[in-house]
Amino acid sequence: MVHEFSLRILPREAADNDRLKASVCRLKGLDPDHVTGVQLLKRSVDARQRTVMMQVQVRVFENEPVQSPQPETIHYEDVSQAPPVIVVGAGPAGLFAALRLIELHRRPIVVERGKAVSERKRDLAQAVRRQQIDEESNYCFGEGGAGAFSDGKLYTRSKKRGNVGRILRLFHQFGASDNILLDAHPHIGTDKLPGIIANMRQQILDCGGEVHFQTRMTDILLRDGRCVGIRCQGGEEFRGPVILATGHSARDVYELMHRLQMPLEAKGFAMGVRLEHPQALIDRLMYHSPQGRGEFLPAAEYSFVEQVDGRGVYSFCMCPGGLVVPAGNENGALVVNGMSPSNRGTKWANSGMVVEIRPEDLPRYSGFVREVMPSGNDAHSMPVFRQMLQLQQALEIHTYRQVAQGLKAPAQRMADFVQGRASESLPSSSYLPGLVASPLHEWLPDEIRRRLQQGFRLFDRNIKGFLTNEAQLIACETRTSSPLRMLRDPGQMNLQGIRGLYPCGEGAGYAGGIVSSAIDGELCAERCAQEA
Ligand SMILES: Cc1cc2nc3c(=O)[nH]c(=O)nc-3n(C[C@H](O)[C@H](O)[C@H](O)COP(=O)(O)OP(=O)(O)OC[C@H]3O[C@@H](n4cnc5c(N)ncnc54)[C@H](O)[C@@H]3O)c2cc1C
Repeated sequence: MVHEFSLRILPREAADNDRLKASVCRLKGLDPDHVTGVQLLKRSVDARQRTVMMQVQVRVFENEPVQSPQPETIHYEDVSQAPPVIVVGAGPAGLFAALRLIELHRRPIVVERGKAVSERKRDLAQAVRRQQIDEESNYCFGEGGAGAFSDGKLYTRSKKRGNVGRILRLFHQFGASDNILLDAHPHIGTDKLPGIIANMRQQILDCGGEVHFQTRMTDILLRDGRCVGIRCQGGEEFRGPVILATGHSARDVYELMHRLQMPLEAKGFAMGVRLEHPQALIDRLMYHSPQGRGEFLPAAEYSFVEQVDGRGVYSFCMCPGGLVVPAGNENGALVVNGMSPSNRGTKWANSGMVVEIRPEDLPRYSGFVREVMPSGNDAHSMPVFRQMLQLQQALEIHTYRQVAQGLKAPAQRMADFVQGRASESLPSSSYLPGLVASPLHEWLPDEIRRRLQQGFRLFDRNIKGFLTNEAQLIACETRTSSPLRMLRDPGQMNLQGIRGLYPCGEGAGYAGGIVSSAIDGELCAERCAQEA
């Protein structure tokens, strides 16, 4: 007989298959001699109560041979003679679009401004040594997109958008570990992602698709209200319908679309700082134990959200056992973000701590923007989406100017920030380019500063000890999602009024994160294949 059970067991009981079998038999009154195997189907940590438990779903084989699960695999066929579709950008949206196109018998031609993922890795290391970013090869640009060097968290709040399970199975098919199919909060890790991304590219090439690196799209070719291809910086042209998956850091693409009078619309996003704690402290707080996580629990996660003065203040993209990294794509401006290796094994926990910003908030930030960018365009003559972009850029430039030493970032202890006191020293940090103590409470825009201060007090009410001087704020976090949207025809995936052009993923304003961008990529590919 085959049974499926949901169980709450102690972490050590879920630690390996023998212990799991013993717990299942004890709890379900089964004779271990008759149980031929137990398969773990799902697991999650439940740390809400003082005793931390694991919630597991298992399949139990009693008096019958164990059948190994066979995850569905997709077979990709040769498409070298199929009609071409241009995919601009090799981030999650672009790569998943390209793979889906192959399934639908179209030939993807992927055009990517950055380099292949392995070369990109070298450029990231070089950037830290030189304190200078390569503006075409960095944490935002290059094969794998912004998700390539990340924690690789694969969960999304927007499950209604599409088939999350399919995206996880594809990551698994291209080399991610079995854990991503089991964990409630799956993640891959920055050490494993590059290999998976390279496997995806190889699949595209093996099927007769093309991948062009260091090839930046500079123009979109239109004829009679239809997109017929793109032109790139060297003058080369690629002809066919276009899936535009350029991410939210390609400001030049937004400018190009504005010049071409394409429909763009401002949308809300969020900005703030990265907060870094010692992971051991987060383990103690979240697992309610002075001993921390012990032998059987993973590095603890947290998630906070509060409203302060009518705007959300929340933690974003938490990286347990992770690193804070310089994640901008321009010199003279500073942006940080976080990533984790697959074992989430560093001494630090970090997350974005951000404040929601809506287009109607712009007037309250206008003084700040003018101060930072006095020669910038007059806000009144600018469309709202450009003002949002300008605000984002202003905070990045302003942050850079606080230290003005390459990629060194300004930082302040957390309790000092809340109490409006300068930090005389800083705790150790994972941020390799280096930190410089700076009074963030004095120079962050008021709308962000006071909401973060109040947000941190509220978070500390939920988790006592979270607000501490053992933690520090590292500035600034601005690339949470796109501050604008490329409008699509209602119910369709093409750009409003233009056939053959499919804005896609995070840059288009329809996704946030790896999984939802991948889903959006697949949906655009499906619609494009119907028409191409
Ligand atoms: C450090 C870091 C950590 C992150 N961690 C996570 C995480 O753990 N989980 C999660 O869900 N999300 C994470 N994110 C966010 C996630 O990476 C993005 O949501 C996701 O990558 C968006 O996918 P995309 O394909 O839409 O765009 P991108 O990933 O931004 O890809 C766009 C691609 O287009 C290319 N491009 C841009 N302009 C042009 C042009 N003109 N011509 C040709 N190519 C162009 C870029 O080089 C880039 O490769 C992280 C982001 C960063 C920076």
